[in-house]
Amino acid sequence: MSNEELGEFLFPKIEKTPKYYLENYPKREIKKQSKVVRYAPSPTGFQHIGGVFAALINERIASQSEGVFILRIEDTDQKREVEGAIYDTIETMKHFGMDFNEGVTGEGEEIGGYGPYKQSLRKEIYQTFAKDLVKKGLAYPCFCTQEELNEVREKQTSIKVTPGYYGEYAKCRNLSLDDIKSHIEKGHNFILRLKSPGDIENRVEFHDLIKGDISFPENNQDIVIIKSDGLPTYHFAHAIDDYLMKTTHVIRGEEWLSSLPIHVQLFQVLGFDAPNFAHIPTIMKQDGDAKRKLSKRKDPESAVSYYKEQGYPVESVTEYLLNIINSNFEQWREENPDISYKEFPVSLEKMSKSGALFDIIKLNDVSKNIIAKMNSDKVYDLYIEWTKEFDKESYDLAVKYEEKLRKVFNIDKEGTKPRKDFEKWSDVKEKIFYFFDELFYLKGIEDVELPKNMNLDEAKNIVEEYIKIFDINGDNNIWFENLKSFALKLGYAGDRKTFKKDPENYKGMVSDVAGVIRSSITHRTNTPDLYTIIQIMGKEKVEERFKRFLNL
Ligand code: GLU
Repeated sequence: MSNEELGEFLFPKIEKTPKYYLENYPKREIKKQSKVVRYAPSPTGFQHIGGVFAALINERIASQSEGVFILRIEDTDQKREVEGAIYDTIETMKHFGMDFNEGVTGEGEEIGGYGPYKQSLRKEIYQTFAKDLVKKGLAYPCFCTQEELNEVREKQTSIKVTPGYYGEYAKCRNLSLDDIKSHIEKGHNFILRLKSPGDIENRVEFHDLIKGDISFPENNQDIVIIKSDGLPTYHFAHAIDDYLMKTTHVIRGEEWLSSLPIHVQLFQVLGFDAPNFAHIPTIMKQDGDAKRKLSKRKDPESAVSYYKEQGYPVESVTEYLLNIINSNFEQWREENPDISYKEFPVSLEKMSKSGALFDIIKLNDVSKNIIAKMNSDKVYDLYIEWTKEFDKESYDLAVKYEEKLRKVFNIDKEGTKPRKDFEKWSDVKEKIFYFFDELFYLKGIEDVELPKNMNLDEAKNIVEEYIKIFDINGDNNIWFENLKSFALKLGYAGDRKTFKKDPENYKGMVSDVAGVIRSSITHRTNTPDLYTIIQIMGKEKVEERFKRFLNL
């Protein structure tokens, strides 16, 4: 039997030839600078922040080069598939506003002319190329059992040689065609291996767009290309798909860097031009003195759902990730405060070569600034959306007091120093509870914050006197001037300087008095502008709060 006949014998149902597919996946009509990239998750779990990180880099690179962004589902390891994972991937992409041009869009649905985009639907394609390799004598079936493979490995370990299926250890490499036939006739399962032409004595020079110049020995392992279930391994599917889909840049996790010798060889053996490669660093976390991978088990922030549940605006997470992708993003953002992050040119070359460090404090800081820039209506809308899903009590209040809440969100919004007190929507309730009796009256004396050096008796004394002169009419200046003369009458200095000059002579300063007024109506020492709070609450409510304070 010839190799030609062996190909037919192993794959009798495969009728097409590589030529058919090569013609059906034509060169793309795109601009010279356009990049074709893909995000290619395996549906083995729910989306991880590392996945969004990889997807975002790909999406930005495609979008800014007027290229093509593909969502390919790599589901060849069917034992590990998790139900709902594909749906979760698609939803995550939508949630982050990452529109892909081609790929899987739902159950049995896809868009684009270079599909199918789900690898399990491409079995015939992989087998067509595999059959062709067999016919050319470049691939062969292997019938070794797990026990036999274990035995070889043990032997290799004991004599301290590189483990694996290669050279003299590649038992099935030299099976005669008749042997193969007899195995198959006995019903033995087989996998297909590449007959590696590599020699580890030869080095391959390689340029990775992120890692720079690297070199490695040629692959000499007869790696598996088709598994016993007829589906391809990642390596084989990667080479076929990225060639047929005309991927120009494979941007993927650095865990694949060590397989690059295999991939480079597969492209050569298949006679394909290899794409450019960029291996992106793994997201790490500082843990004490050490850095470690963000862990699904230990770190809640590794799950994409965490950010949604906590109420981080999507833009906050996106911009935070852009900070990790390119450290010059922060400066760019400062220089361009008002334009979309989409204008920022993401650069693979400027990415850190080693681990990307994830830091929730930095995320909070980014998010604070993003919320600060939103107008109050946008804040209201996003808050309503979040509470509806995650905090029913706050949702009901936000609907009931919509008008008031919009005003609350507008406090200190305009002007040069907008308020920056929300990092995420789950912070809001604790920051604005005092506007709602339903929340405020749940709190007792133990929850009242008073200004430093102020005792409750003196605070009550101030409020008791203030009720008598409290006047809600007039602008902020008039109101403050009144407060100041009131403070002077009670023996407080009109400003800090006067107080500092002669502290013995005063009980404190006007800010202490204002602080007491603030505490009495909000229970907090730190709030946005007090005058505005009073105006939003209205005369009656403020007076009711004063009285309640006196009874605490
Ligand atoms: N399915 C692979 C993974 O999830 C994709 C790697 C790639 O982008 O090529 O790791």
